Amino acid sequence: MKKHMCAILLLIITILSGCSSMSPSESTKEKELLSSPPHGVYYEIFVRSFYDSDDDGIGDLNGVTEKLDYLSDLGIEGIWLMPINKSPSYHGYDVTDYKSIDPDYGSSEDFKTLVEEAHERDIKILMDLVVNHTSKRHPWFEDASSSEESPYRDWYIWANDETNTTERGEWSQTLWHGSSGNKYYGVFWQGMPDLNFDNPEVREEMIDIGEYWLEEYNIDGYRLDAAKHIFDSEEKNHEWWREFNSAMKDINENALLVGEVWDSATIVGPYLDGGLDSTFNFDLSANILNSVKNESDGIVSSLTRTRSYFNDVSDEYIDSTFITNHDMNRVMSELNGDVEQAKMAASILLTLPGNPFIYYGEEIGMEGQKPDENIREPMIWSVDKEKEGQASWMIAKHNKDREAISVEAQMEDDNSLLNHYKKLIHTRRSTEILIEGEIEKSDFREDGILTFKRTLDDQSLLVIHNLSDEEKQISLGQEYEQFFSTNDEVSLESSDIIIPGKTTTILE
Ligand code: CA
Repeated sequence: MKKHMCAILLLIITILSGCSSMSPSESTKEKELLSSPPHGVYYEIFVRSFYDSDDDGIGDLNGVTEKLDYLSDLGIEGIWLMPINKSPSYHGYDVTDYKSIDPDYGSSEDFKTLVEEAHERDIKILMDLVVNHTSKRHPWFEDASSSEESPYRDWYIWANDETNTTERGEWSQTLWHGSSGNKYYGVFWQGMPDLNFDNPEVREEMIDIGEYWLEEYNIDGYRLDAAKHIFDSEEKNHEWWREFNSAMKDINENALLVGEVWDSATIVGPYLDGGLDSTFNFDLSANILNSVKNESDGIVSSLTRTRSYFNDVSDEYIDSTFITNHDMNRVMSELNGDVEQAKMAASILLTLPGNPFIYYGEEIGMEGQKPDENIREPMIWSVDKEKEGQASWMIAKHNKDREAISVEAQMEDDNSLLNHYKKLIHTRRSTEILIEGEIEKSDFREDGILTFKRTLDDQSLLVIHNLSDEEKQISLGQEYEQFFSTNDEVSLESSDIIIPGKTTTILE
């Protein structure tokens, strides 16, 4: 039945596309609907810190479900959930059971409900999948380390007589752990032994786990942790992700695989060749912050270079853009609490191509500096810290000024950072040009201004960010009309524009 419906739909669309009364943009739209690319604005959630539905102080999956309307209102189209599998740590990046839900976070039924409720609101769910290593307390590792005869022995990497166990890693960390005669490899930490992906059983197991959540829970894809650490060899990494991706696409052809390859574009590029659908743009993250801090325009040339390289590798790749994530000092701390600068950072992120990822709390200007716990503090919902839903599993070191930070306070204030994010996200979503358009250099340069064009087919928008504090007067060389502005004081008279400081304007 379903197949017949699809065939009929296809036929109708084919006929419509051939019809001369249909504009090119409309027929493009139809094609996009058919292929349903997973474009959108995403939101990264650390569940433990987000929203606590049962008043035990720990954020949970039902809490995320309760806050879907908040996310929907903000304009979010997809969620990346940091690890939700069983784990002995607070952060979850050391898993002890890949097919379970951490009981701190709820039950598998709660997760099913979350996915269903998210889908009702057209919000996709990406799960963090941590395959490079397990927890030291995973039953596989406990068994493997107990005996050389264990069936799981070869699932991990053990030192032999020839191994240099004093060898250090790329951050000069210790790589070999455990007692002499039983030393194992763990690139991140002694509590996270690396799996041996040369062993086909390990690869099969991880593919089975990937299939499980797509099939049983109908999730929309994965954020793949430590994607470049699976093997020491880059070629073997690319090959593994192609194997994994092809298996996931057999389950759901629209499944989105976003990989963490924390490296320069030249290393990242080859992963996009059939392996990962998308990678996080770490270079851009640093560039956005630099641009805001130094009022400079360095982003465009480096981004266009990277995009043209990635487009050569894969014409379907999606850039996953962000300002900061759960492994980095929070934006607001990087900008020393300057709300106007934080707004500019958001404006830049949300006017660039790609799928922007917002780290929870970024939209209300939460602060946080390493160590890691302090960049993952509880989300601040209300002015009253006793109000239901407030996670309290840790005591916040930053984020104490609830009158300024809380969602509740910022909802009321038209000029808040939260409402700024909301405006920018909804503006982005209002036009295909900002969602899917390419980025091109503008025809002019001006100190303190970051400007670029976004183009799609024959349509184009001119984006101008005045990063400086001073009003700028610019002669644009051609006539434009205002499409969007963060400030009513922008004055545009045909080809001359006056833009107040710390303002974003988009012209058509
Ligand atoms: Ca709870």
